[in-house]
Amino acid sequence: MKILTKADVWLIIFLLLFAFVGIGLGLSRLVTSGSGTLSAQISVGGKIMQTVPLREGYRQEIEVKNGDHYNTIEINYGKIHIREADCPDQICVRSGWIGIATQQIVCLPNRVVINIVATDSDLDGIAR
Ligand SMILES: [Zn+2]
Repeated sequence: MKILTKADVWLIIFLLLFAFVGIGLGLSRLVTSGSGTLSAQISVGGKIMQTVPLREGYRQEIEVKNGDHYNTIEINYGKIHIREADCPDQICVRSGWIGIATQQIVCLPNRVVINIVATDSDLDGIAR
């Protein structure tokens, strides 16, 4: 007894292919919206001093000075962290790397704040 004809087999292969393509597209959409275009806003004393892009392959080192104090900020691998600071608590340095929208590093003694903001205006156009 023959259960599957050749046509049935092809139909199953096509259905499976479509399912995989669908899953692939869904995943790639998730990945691109998740890692979107993020920027880091570096504020000193309440004023935004610099906005830097957080994207793969972009590398930068910024030294922020506030009076006699300093914070050395490093951007790499789509993330940002404070590598070095002369503040007494070192909380900002210990905060480590951040790279997700709304995450924040604060250095209270030096009045330095790093905010991560989503700047994917092209994605907004589709969503709205
Ligand atoms: Zn600090």
